Amino acid sequence: PSVTTDMEVLTREVENYVNVKKLEIETLNVRENYRKEFMGNISHELKTPLFTVQSYVLTLLDGAMKDKTVRKEYLRRANKGVERLIYIVKELDMISKLEVGGLVLNKEYFNIIALVQSIFDLLEMKAAKKNISLVFDKEYTEEIVVNADRERIEQVLTNLIVNSLKYGKQDGTTEVSIENIVKSKVLVRVTDNGEGILKENMPRIFERFYRVDKSGSRKEGGSGLGLSIVKHIVEAHNEKIYVESQFGIGSEFSFTLENGK
Ligand code: ADP
Repeated sequence: PSVTTDMEVLTREVENYVNVKKLEIETLNVRENYRKEFMGNISHELKTPLFTVQSYVLTLLDGAMKDKTVRKEYLRRANKGVERLIYIVKELDMISKLEVGGLVLNKEYFNIIALVQSIFDLLEMKAAKKNISLVFDKEYTEEIVVNADRERIEQVLTNLIVNSLKYGKQDGTTEVSIENIVKSKVLVRVTDNGEGILKENMPRIFERFYRVDKSGSRKEGGSGLGLSIVKHIVEAHNEKIYVESQFGIGSEFSFTLENGK
């Protein structure tokens, strides 16, 4: 009987081993597909501006160089393409740093109200182009101290506010509000009354390169990396990010921060 038991134990062990290996292979396959999709997306995003630059340079070489006005305009357009390439590469760099955990947070105590004010000042012109009002539920003389990486949180807020302007309606409103939800947590909200997001697209918006409307978003610039950077930064702080949206009505992105008081 002891032989049978041994055999049973051995069979079970072999089965377990096979199952573990199967799972490992499945995980590897998923990762491999993800990697392939990611590589495909990168080359796609880089191709467009590269071809733009190339086409202007070639036209210049082809003779357009002779005319001074044309030359200047084509160089300006080629430079736009280069700027876009730099923008994408910078964002990719940021993402890869965030993903390998190589981004060290420099946490400090700072007044988030002053930070929001300074971002509003920087984005005022951009908002004015669509006549969007930037509204803040706090007076700039107030103070809410949080403990976080100031520069990274500036990036989070900037990305969210820029999105609210990109996908916001003409004459609309972007509102930032800050609230103490529990003693140790602060909730920062960025609300717009823009185009909103369809329910079916909601689970994907934080993915790298994902954009609901490819053509529309491209017109507005951006690369589909903004929200994925936002999510990474918030999660690196061990905080949470939320989104609520109604198609045609507007969106609200919010995230928590550690109350520094
Ligand atoms: P992008 O560079 O395209 O703006 P993001 O990662 O910042 O990339 O956002 C991903 C997609 O989520 C956008 O392309 C857009 O479709 C959608 N989105 C983001 N923010 C908003 C918003 N405030 N209102 C409506 N749609 C939004």
